[in-house]
Amino acid sequence: MEKVIIIGSGPAGLTAALYTSRALLSPLMIEGYEAGGQLMTTTEVENFPGFPDGIMGPDLMKKCKDQALKFGTRVISKNVTKVDFSSTPYKVYVGEEVYETQSVIISTGAKAKLLGIEGESRLMGRGVSTCATCDGAFFRDQELVIVGGGDTAMEEAIFLTRFASKVTVIHRRKELKASQIMQEKAKNNPKIHWIWDTVVEQAHGENELE
Ligand SMILES: Cc1cc2nc3c(=O)[nH]c(=O)nc-3n(C[C@H](O)[C@H](O)[C@H](O)COP(=O)(O)OP(=O)(O)OC[C@H]3O[C@@H](n4cnc5c(N)ncnc54)[C@H](O)[C@@H]3O)c2cc1C
Repeated sequence: MEKVIIIGSGPAGLTAALYTSRALLSPLMIEGYEAGGQLMTTTEVENFPGFPDGIMGPDLMKKCKDQALKFGTRVISKNVTKVDFSSTPYKVYVGEEVYETQSVIISTGAKAKLLGIEGESRLMGRGVSTCATCDGAFFRDQELVIVGGGDTAMEEAIFLTRFASKVTVIHRRKELKASQIMQEKAKNNPKIHWIWDTVVEQAHGENELE
């Protein structure tokens, strides 16, 4: 019987592993096939406290994992395939294996909704980004494009005007889905420009940030 099972090994899972292992709960972390989570796919992380010069995403995740292992976290490098939380002890399945536990911390993260166009994956973290807050500062005084017409697109576009010289929103329809207030904010921002009725088909480039 486990005291705590942590599902996922991104920043959230590894933080949970560090705290629970230091609390002598001997956590079992089922890290998943994408060990280290989303930051494994990025280059420089500039907003993690304690690294004033930035740190590469995979290096940061390795340090977090080493720290969790040091205090006794045990790791299974597979995906959880099924859970049963209908009664205690909870059951967590990894294929045919079943683990019983008093508590579960789910830290399976989130995935960006991608466009699925050519060039998008190849240039991810190298000019293509799914997170303005994370990557905006890399694009000071550059011209940026946002694809989408919902609240998130408006929010990210407005945020990016802090850094970019110009932000162009490309939207596949003539009207935005965003709330009126967000639309107004974006439309009143002189740095934001618009391309309507247009579907993006391809991302071009050759590792611009390298
Ligand atoms: C390219 C890129 C750059 C980024 N840059 C920054 C940045 O500079 N600064 C910043 O603050 N944020 C950045 N982010 C955002 C940051 O990566 C996320 O906010 C963060 O990773 C979320 O952490 P998490 O632990 O919640 O989940 P994730 O990192 O998404 O980790 C999810 C974990 O769950 C596991 N998992 C999923 N399903 C299962 C399953 N069934 N069984 C077992 N395990 C499972 C996966 O294997 C993975 O280990 C960036 C994101 C991307 C994609």
